[in-house]
Amino acid sequence: MPFYKCDATHCREPSVRGEGVCFLCNSHYCAAHMKSGVHTCTKLAEEEYAVASARASENEINALLSEIRVDVLRARAMSLRNGISCDIPPLDYNPATALMGGMNYHFPITFQDGVTWLCRIRRHNASSPPMELRDRILLSEAATLRFLANTRIPVPKVYDFAISSPNNPVGVGYILMEKLDGKPLPPWSTIDVDRRKHVLAQFVEVFAELEKHPLPAIGSLRHPEDQSIGPLTIEQFADADEDGHAKSLGPFSTATEYRYETVRRQMELVSRGEVHHTNAVDSYLVHRYLLECVPWFARQEEGSGSAYYLKHMDDKGDHILVDDDFNITGIVDWEWAQTAPKSEAFAAPMFLLDVGSYYDGKNELSEGEELFASMLEGKGHRELAQFVRRGRVEHRWASCLGGDAGFSDSLRAMFSGLRGSLRRDRDWDGWRKRSLKKYANDKGLKLLTMKHTII
Ligand SMILES: [Zn+2]
Ligand SMILES: [Zn+2]
Repeated sequence: MPFYKCDATHCREPSVRGEGVCFLCNSHYCAAHMKSGVHTCTKLAEEEYAVASARASENEINALLSEIRVDVLRARAMSLRNGISCDIPPLDYNPATALMGGMNYHFPITFQDGVTWLCRIRRHNASSPPMELRDRILLSEAATLRFLANTRIPVPKVYDFAISSPNNPVGVGYILMEKLDGKPLPPWSTIDVDRRKHVLAQFVEVFAELEKHPLPAIGSLRHPEDQSIGPLTIEQFADADEDGHAKSLGPFSTATEYRYETVRRQMELVSRGEVHHTNAVDSYLVHRYLLECVPWFARQEEGSGSAYYLKHMDDKGDHILVDDDFNITGIVDWEWAQTAPKSEAFAAPMFLLDVGSYYDGKNELSEGEELFASMLEGKGHRELAQFVRRGRVEHRWASCLGGDAGFSDSLRAMFSGLRGSLRRDRDWDGWRKRSLKKYANDKGLKLLTMKHTII
């Protein structure tokens, strides 16, 4: 079942994830209605759209802030510090100064003795998953931070958390955490060589530390108080059951099961028109091919046993906080973190990739990846260095499975890159023609080819 159905009157189609969501009117639309006359926001001129968009953000955040019982939150923070009094600034939304990302809003709690905490609350708007899944994401992030607090990886300490519930007197779900010093790592290309080496020397220790803490299954940490592995929290693989409850995949006891199930879930979403609606047949074929690749991955992973490793799922670089001398002060934003097979967990983080070359389908390692691999080797982590050197196939797998697959050009580049990393030919047209024939009897493909014109 889809998370959200189309809001157009009498339409029973699922809403398209991402593209079918409108923040302006808080609506969800299917592929047929999202740009149709039914959805009037699409008629706005560029400037009008920008004004409406800013107003929608302001309304959303103000509504969120008005739900917070600041006096209760302040009392809670004080009691956690044995009565040291604290201040919470007026919670008025100011786009220029708001500590906010696409998913979370933060504000400081400042104690009289100079200690500062951050209160992290999840935004909710039309693009948010149902509340049940939002709560699971919050609990899992707090669990991940508590798990990492027992390692040498610098993460903010979690002092308190609560999900959205009538029993939560604060009014909204939140995590109270340590406010770390430092600012996000600037784009890799803007950092000079000596500083790059300094950052990577510290990142070698992060990889080495994660390797020392294997977990027994693939999934996301479930709850800060039990530390077991639960289902994946990432929305991409979540769905709803018959009663509308959020249904996530996993946990998995084998990497093979994990790979098959995540691909199959994407194929269901493509078939239902929830993702990749502009190139559904091509996306379906690529996912059908991913299923065929699973045994190849299983052979690579033979001998790894049932040990899986925590992975930051949004490792574009701004999750690393550094001081003015590029000392890492913390690694933040662990929402959606999950455990993964060793080869996936220790492929290079995305911030080291040469994005232009990657999106052109090229597989050569970037300078950053080469440097990181050689520094891992220099510190005696030869196996981790191999995972970085052979990591491109994991990046390609994730991109073919993920959001990049929704657009014809990027799908072709990612797929061509995947075929290249598996030492297969990169001829898209030839492969596509053969695959349409090969899978002609596949039920899902038949239904899609009936719905979409095949060129
Ligand atoms: Zn709209
Ligand atoms: Zn519709």
